[in-house]
Amino acid sequence: MKKLRSFVLVLIIIAVGVVIWYWDSDPPTVRIDSADYVNKDGEIGFIAEDLGKGLRSISAVVRQGEDVNPIFEATYEFTILPWHRTAELKEMVVSIEKLGVSEGAFEIEFEARDQSNLWFFSRSAVTKREFTLDTKRPILSVLSRQHYITQGGSEAVLYKVQEAGSDSGVLVGDRVFRGFPLSGRGDGVHLAIFSIGYDQPVDVPLSLWAQDRAGNRSKASFWHKVFPGKFRNRKITISDSFIASVAPEILEHSPEVSEQSTPLETFLEINRTLRTLNNQRIAELTQQSEPRLLWTEPFAQLSNSQVESIFADHRTYLYEGKECDQQTHLGFDLASLALSPVEASNSGTVVFADFLGIYGNTVIVDHGLGLFSLYGHLSSLGVEVGQTVARREALGQTGQTGLAGGDHLHFSMLLQGHQINPIEWWDEDWVRKHVLVKIEGGESIE
Ligand SMILES: [Zn+2]
Repeated sequence: MKKLRSFVLVLIIIAVGVVIWYWDSDPPTVRIDSADYVNKDGEIGFIAEDLGKGLRSISAVVRQGEDVNPIFEATYEFTILPWHRTAELKEMVVSIEKLGVSEGAFEIEFEARDQSNLWFFSRSAVTKREFTLDTKRPILSVLSRQHYITQGGSEAVLYKVQEAGSDSGVLVGDRVFRGFPLSGRGDGVHLAIFSIGYDQPVDVPLSLWAQDRAGNRSKASFWHKVFPGKFRNRKITISDSFIASVAPEILEHSPEVSEQSTPLETFLEINRTLRTLNNQRIAELTQQSEPRLLWTEPFAQLSNSQVESIFADHRTYLYEGKECDQQTHLGFDLASLALSPVEASNSGTVVFADFLGIYGNTVIVDHGLGLFSLYGHLSSLGVEVGQTVARREALGQTGQTGLAGGDHLHFSMLLQGHQINPIEWWDEDWVRKHVLVKIEGGESIE
């Protein structure tokens, strides 16, 4: 009898131990995966997870006004023994169409319950989220009338988007230019500055676009006329002594590339691979811009400077009399006295001041509304990232760092990551007619 009693006691201790060992004390987790604004083609994802014994059931309902409707309800295999486990993770995707909701706000409640401990003690998790169904496209209307663009150059378009929270701008082929809301010009009035690339055809498709928070998209065309750009061809002779004078400094600062077996191969590694990487970096640095104009006066060319190269010169490189490479020069080369102060072409905020491969010591200034200026080959940097600069304020001194044959300033302008011809921005009359007049409402507006 005594033996039997201790045997039963041992069994009870083992059973209690097993129950405690397999006890699931963590509740399941639930998540609703979707943006707050949805359109009729949208979907809502439901994710439930239980890392203990697994999920026993999941369910969701949708509420709109007085209506409450089930979305789904599922129950999974019941676990009998303490060490049994079932579905750990369940994912459901439900289309907006299937929810049967109409335009406006609705709420979703999603619940999951896990497997019980001792057939009784289970836990649940609930989450609720508010959504808005928006099936209407944002209304787009063009306000500016004249849009004359030269290939490689810029233009501005004034337009209105009648839906708050929409993204909008101009599409030039596959290039996206974002528009910015103008303060003091009425609700939804935006200006987008865009460009046609020197490398895009004159008949590249141009359109305005807008996309609301729910993803509904509108397109609108606007009157425009495009003139072909005139680009030059130039020959540049490369010598071993030139390569020996520029390569070591560039390689030292640019771990992305390394010295090759011959001087020519090292030059090509810098002129092709590093140039491509540097231009990608510049495109990234000039994506995010202040959403307002940071200048009032026209853009200035470097004082007392002579133009040596212009925008989009097509360069053929010669080595020992033979062609070895071709590249496009995306800026102006301006020569002044050696170690001249490099002046900010207009007021703005410094977004980059560091060594940048073929451009040597480089400064990039944000002028707002997507427009940037770049200054290369500096011998010294006199500004820091985040610093506000005034028009003609010194950014450093000219020099020949990077891929430069002599002391000069490489000056570029960029629009939301794309290289543009600066010559228009130096022309006060052009800036007034193409940009400022549209901002100030001087051009006739319907
Ligand atoms: Zn240059």
